[in-house]
Amino acid sequence: MADFLDFFSDTKTRPTAAMRRAMAEAEVGDERAGEDPTVNRLVARCAALLGKPAAIYLPSGTMCNEIALAVHCRPGDEVLCDTTSHLIGFEGGGPAALAGVMLQAIPGDRGRYSAGQLGEALRPDRPYAPRQRLVTVEQTANLGGGAIWPLQQLAAVASTARAAGLATHMDGARLFNACVATGTAPSAHAEGYDSVWVDFSKGLGAPGGAVLAGDTGFVAEAERLKLRWGGAMRQSGIIAAACEYALDHHIDRLADDHANARRLAQGLARLPGLRIDPDTVETNLVYFDVIDPRRDAAALCAALMERGVRMGPMGRHTVRAVTHLDVDAAAVDAALQAVAACLG
Ligand SMILES: *Cc1c(COP(=O)(O)O)cnc(C)c1O
Repeated sequence: MADFLDFFSDTKTRPTAAMRRAMAEAEVGDERAGEDPTVNRLVARCAALLGKPAAIYLPSGTMCNEIALAVHCRPGDEVLCDTTSHLIGFEGGGPAALAGVMLQAIPGDRGRYSAGQLGEALRPDRPYAPRQRLVTVEQTANLGGGAIWPLQQLAAVASTARAAGLATHMDGARLFNACVATGTAPSAHAEGYDSVWVDFSKGLGAPGGAVLAGDTGFVAEAERLKLRWGGAMRQSGIIAAACEYALDHHIDRLADDHANARRLAQGLARLPGLRIDPDTVETNLVYFDVIDPRRDAAALCAALMERGVRMGPMGRHTVRAVTHLDVDAAAVDAALQAVAACLG
């Protein structure tokens, strides 16, 4: 274990002993040739969970997003997404470099825009305008503070998109968090979305892997890009076994992460010099502002690190703390003490 409490991200989880055993015992084959039974089983289970006819295993969520953009769009097309979208700030310029698309950012409420806002962002079909092709949503909204899109809002956005002849894509990096928090099925969220993916390297605690789902034509094209971009692996059932283990054992426990995030948020709200509304913490992401003029977010995080707690500065005044299976309620209490000491 690391010798500090790591609230930096839910990607910091390490595979548990039981997960490692499942990996060691995985049945494997040549994934690239479609011969890895563990990958094939994982992909079939995810397609069913997401309510789509087909799915494909990919190394990362970023590759899921980038491949989906390239399958749905042609260079010069426009993709509509929220201002806070992962596509904009965290994928190395991939939408421009790989799919050649433009992004139109819609300023939603904590990462979630309305069907009405989407309607206002639609362009008339004119020769001088970029062709609009794809609408994307992020469930949960990462920079939106882990906010959950209500099912009706997802459905309204999808139907507005469809009425305008646009395809729809869901970045489900933390879709399971939304499902556990609201007691809803993944397929209910993905309904009306042409493509959707889930990540296994976030709160689910696997060392890597993501599954991108859609109809068979979409997945066949995604397969071509997976090969082209070097995303095809060989005996990747070793990793897929961790993903499958996570599906079986690490979904329901996301509720613990959500409870710990609320505990953290409520504790932070009691500390002077910070600003946070605990009621906005719906899942496992906790964003708070440092309003003490003597220090900024980076200074607070550096001081915290000296006390054995890692959190992430997100901009000048904002800090992000994330709960996951390697931090429990006792870790939250220790972190709160450390924050209080730093502010004192
Ligand atoms: C982490 C994340 C991604 C990228 O997933 P990786 O598996 O890290 O490549 C995409 N979208 C959102 C919202 C994320 O949080």
